[in-house]
Amino acid sequence: LRIISAEPQNNEQISDEELRPDTLDTFIGQPQLKAQMKLFLDAAQLRGVAPDHILLAGPPGLGKTTLSMIVAHELGVPIRVTSGPAIQHAGDLASIVSSLEEGEVLFIDEIHRLPRAAEELLYIAMEDFRVDVMVGKGPGASSIPLTLPRFTVIGATTREGMLPSPLRARFGFTAHLDYYPTSELEKLILRSADVLGIHVDTEAAYELSLRSRGTPRVANRLLRRVRDWAIVHGLTEVNADAVRDALELYQIDSEGLDRLDIAVLNAICRQFNGGPVGLNNLAAMVGEESETVETVCEPYLVREGFLARTPRGRIATGKAWSHLGLTPPNDVTS
Ligand code: ATP
Repeated sequence: LRIISAEPQNNEQISDEELRPDTLDTFIGQPQLKAQMKLFLDAAQLRGVAPDHILLAGPPGLGKTTLSMIVAHELGVPIRVTSGPAIQHAGDLASIVSSLEEGEVLFIDEIHRLPRAAEELLYIAMEDFRVDVMVGKGPGASSIPLTLPRFTVIGATTREGMLPSPLRARFGFTAHLDYYPTSELEKLILRSADVLGIHVDTEAAYELSLRSRGTPRVANRLLRRVRDWAIVHGLTEVNADAVRDALELYQIDSEGLDRLDIAVLNAICRQFNGGPVGLNNLAAMVGEESETVETVCEPYLVREGFLARTPRGRIATGKAWSHLGLTPPNDVTS
């Protein structure tokens, strides 16, 4: 199990709840997005209408679910939560939208994975607040239009490019969430520590933030693992040494790389002499699914400058060689 993965893990949903800020003011970081969102919500409230539909795009674990709950909370309306993969037929979505209350927020996670027929139903529901209900079967079937109350769809996606443009066009406001700088992760860690009732000193928060891959979900998860370590070792306050020792036990290094990331870099440098190497070869070499290597390891390795993608395959950068303590061949300089 990768404890630094940005995907939710078993039983994490419940513990995530307690760490979720419920107002825009307590949502840490993303200042520009927060200012835009505040204006957007204030304007809707002053106009006395449900706001336009909102699309939240960005990598997993950065706070899309949290933000959508904040929107509902700030507007004082209920929220219904579903996801693209949970909706198998257009009828599933029809029954959800036809039972919404006036002003309610409908949160659709992984909206890029909605089946085509449901997507088409959603276009009409979002634009005309109408759903066509089919009555009867076969040649005698007919459709009866059902008027819906005004509601706000919040779609979340990690793959904005996969959304068909007609769907994208129906969102009045699109927000992009970015990875968090360490200064903001530090604040987030100190806030979460407060909620969890643990004392974490500022140096420890800094050390944790360095290893959190710019991702609040990872930061919160590492904090919980360090908390466990502190409890077992009878510490009343978490300091930087405790963070380093605990995370060494979990095989997470000073740059937030775990065993799989290191295995990938080692394979490229040692087995393929720095690359280029194709994804499938690389995945086979580290004994992982290609998809895991591509979606879980690579984005962070590329973003942090350990790995470069070229048309001929992946190559290790100078930073990768030096992180592994290896001497690169002459032509690797950056
Ligand atoms: P996914 O797309 O995988 O569902 P997500 O982007 O919806 O992920 P959340 O579930 O909202 O991520 O957030 C993950 C965890 O990080 C939650 O515990 C949440 O409380 C915390 N979190 C996220 N963003 C912030 C933030 N800006 N301030 C404080 N806590 C945050």
